[in-house]
Amino acid sequence: MSLVTALHASPSQHLLSQSPDHPVLYFAPSILQSSAKRFLTGFPGLVTYAVKANDAEEVLENLMTAGVDAFDVASPFEMARVKKLMPTAVLHYNNPVRSEAEIATAIAHGVTSYSVDSLGELQKLVRCGVPESTEVSVRLRLPVKGAAYDFGAKFGADPELAAILLKAVAEAGFAPSMTFHPGTQCADPAAWRAYIDICADVAGHAGVRLQRLNVGGGYAAHRTGAAPDLEAIFAAIELATIDAFGGDMPSLVCEPGRAMVAEAFSLATRVKAIREDGAVFLNDGIYGGLAELPILGNIDRIEPVSLACERSGDPIDFVVFGPTCDSLDRLPGTVPLAGDISEGDWLVWHGLGAYSTATVTRFNGYGAIEVVTTDRLA
Ligand SMILES: *Cc1c(COP(=O)(O)O)cnc(C)c1O
Repeated sequence: MSLVTALHASPSQHLLSQSPDHPVLYFAPSILQSSAKRFLTGFPGLVTYAVKANDAEEVLENLMTAGVDAFDVASPFEMARVKKLMPTAVLHYNNPVRSEAEIATAIAHGVTSYSVDSLGELQKLVRCGVPESTEVSVRLRLPVKGAAYDFGAKFGADPELAAILLKAVAEAGFAPSMTFHPGTQCADPAAWRAYIDICADVAGHAGVRLQRLNVGGGYAAHRTGAAPDLEAIFAAIELATIDAFGGDMPSLVCEPGRAMVAEAFSLATRVKAIREDGAVFLNDGIYGGLAELPILGNIDRIEPVSLACERSGDPIDFVVFGPTCDSLDRLPGTVPLAGDISEGDWLVWHGLGAYSTATVTRFNGYGAIEVVTTDRLA
C-alpha cells in the first residue's frame, strides 16, 4: 500500500476529478479522532488500541493526538512502530504465545502487561526475566456466542486452568489480572457479562484479588443495518463488573481494534466489467481490501459513484468477483447494487478501516491501494 496523502473533500469528489483506475482507500482523520474520543469518554476504564486492526502510522498518530496513549501489541514490529511515534506509550503484549527473543524485545521496550493462557508460557516469562510486579493477565475462554467468529478457538484457558494460572501468576510476584476476547464484531452485551461473571468466579476459586480486568476488543463496527450501540455495551460491562465483583472491583481495560478504526476509512473499487450474465468484476477483491467479506459476510454500506449520472436504479443482486485469476476471488453469495451501475463506475465500501489494509496481499499483481486523506467520507 502506498502512503500518498492529499487532502480532498470526499471520496466522490476525488473519484470524479481524478478517475483512479486502481483501488483507493479514503481516510478521514476527523472520524478516527471522534471514534477515539467516544471510547475515551464512554468506556469506564483504560482504553488501549489493538494495533493489528490497522497499524498505519497515520492511524496511530491520529489516535495519539486524540489522547490514546496505551496500545495492545502482538509482535516486536508493532512495539517498535508505536514506540517510534510515542516513546512514552504504554504497551500491553497480549499475544499469549511468544518466543524467548520476542520476550527479550518486549522487556527492552518496557512492556507493562502480558497475557498468558498456559503454564509453559508463564514459566517462560519468569525464565526470561520479566520484572516482578509487571502485570500478567490470565486469558480466559468460554464457549459464548454473539460474535461473528470465535476467538476462543486459538487462545484462552478454560476456567479450571485459568484458576491454576492465576494463582501461579500471584505466587510468581506478578500483578494478577484477567483478560478475555469475546470474538470480533460482537454486538451482544451478554457475551461480556458471561465472561465477567466467570472471571469473578475464577478469581474467587484461586483466592486472588484482581487488580485489573481487561475486557478485550470485539466491539462491533457498522457493517449492516443500524450502527451498533457502543455506549450500551460500555454500560453493560460496568454493571456486570459491579454485579460480579461487588465492592472489590478491579479497574477495567479495553482493547478495541475494529470499532476504533473501521468507520474512518472507505474503500473505492472500480467496476472493470459487467459480463453478459450479469457478473460484476472489480479491481479489488478478497486478496485485497475486501478480505474479510468471505469470513464476516457482505456489508450493505456501498455507495455507487459514476461519471455519467447519479446511479439510483432499484437494487439488483449481483455476483461480484475480484480482479485476480483465482476463482475463490468472489464475494459471498450475491451483493445488492444499484441496478443501473455500469463499467467504469466506482463502488465505495464504507466502514472498511479495520482488517483491510492490514491483510492486503499483492497476489497476481493486484492489491496496490492508494490512501487519500479526506475531510469526510460521505
Ligand atoms: C485482535 C485483538 C483485539 C482487537 O479485536 P477487535 O475485534 O478488532 O476489537 C484485541 N485484543 C486481542 C488480544 C486481540 O487479539
